[in-house]
Parts: sequence; C-alpha cells; structure tokens
Amino acid sequence: MNNTNEMVVEFSSVASNERFARMVVAAFLTSTNPTLEEVSDVKTAVSEAVTNSIIHGYESKDGMIRIKAVVKGRSIYLEITDEGVGIEDVKKAMEPLYTTKPQEDRSGMGFAFMEAFMDKVVVESTYGKGTVVKMWKEIGVIKPQFE
Ligand code: ATP
Ligand code: MG
Repeated sequence: MNNTNEMVVEFSSVASNERFARMVVAAFLTSTNPTLEEVSDVKTAVSEAVTNSIIHGYESKDGMIRIKAVVKGRSIYLEITDEGVGIEDVKKAMEPLYTTKPQEDRSGMGFAFMEAFMDKVVVESTYGKGTVVKMWKEIGVIKPQFE
C-alpha cells in the first residue's frame, strides 16, 4: 500500500469559485495535520493562482480551471491549470509588483505571495494556450526565523 492521495477538481472560471477552490483544497489537506497558519498559507496561494486564471487567463470569459492536489505523508503538491491566454514572459510576470492590469487595481503581488507562502513555485505557460502553476509545500517543518 502506498501513502499517496490524489485529487482532481475542475470548475468554471467565475469569481465565486475562488472560495470553493480554497475550501476544497483545505479540506483535502486535512490528512497532513497542518496548523491554522499552514492551511491559511496554502489557501492564499491557491486563491492567488485561481484568481489569476479567472482574471488574466480567461479575462473574465468562460473557461475551465483544474486543480490537481497530491498528498504524500506531510508533503503537498498542487497544480492549477487553465487554458487561457497564457503568459508571454513568465520570468517578468513573476517579478513582485509586475502587473499587466494596473488600471484594474492589481498590485502585481500574486506570484510573490505564492512564493512566500509555499516552499516552491514553478510556472509553465504557453502564450495563447494556457498556464500551469505548480506548487510544493512541506507541512510541519520549522522554518528558521533569521535567514
Ligand atoms: P495581484 O495578484 O496583486 O492582484 P496581478 O494578478 O497582476 O496582481 P500576479 O498575480 O503576480 O499579479 O501576476 C502577474 C502577471 O502575470 C499578471 O498581471 C498577468 O499579466 C500574468 N498572469 C498571471 N497569471 C496568469 C494566467 N493564469 N494567465 C495569463 N496571465 C497570467
Ligand atoms: Mg494575481
């Protein structure tokens, strides 16, 4: 018997599903026995990725967003996929404060939050085809206060 548990969920790119996405991922992760802070970190990261798919990927039009989550012991892997417009320059998009929608009050901090709250974030995107955000987090690891 292996200890890998996997989930896939797919939903419409509507704003009300940001909350659904956060909740479904949080519920799936309970077996890792996370602290409230760890759950909150993962929820924030999922929220940022899903919001990006809705606002930027599908530009508020119809589309489907897919979340895959894998738990192995206390290790979490998340993948948020859209088939939206894609990102031309991923490196630039991931820079803090970089946004292509400043007129809509976006602060360009979504990817920075994902990186701050998760252990590792990898973004794969094909311009015109869509985006995959991959994130990893280890639950129960004591992080040093000074780095
Ligand atoms: P904020 O998240 O602070 O509201 P933001 O969404 O613009 O602002 P990021 O989340 O860091 O900032 O994303 C940076 C930029 O990357 C976006 O402005 C957008 O151009 C691009 N981007 C991010 N996710 C996607 C996506 N799923 N599809 C297409 N473009 C994306
Ligand atoms: Mg964002």
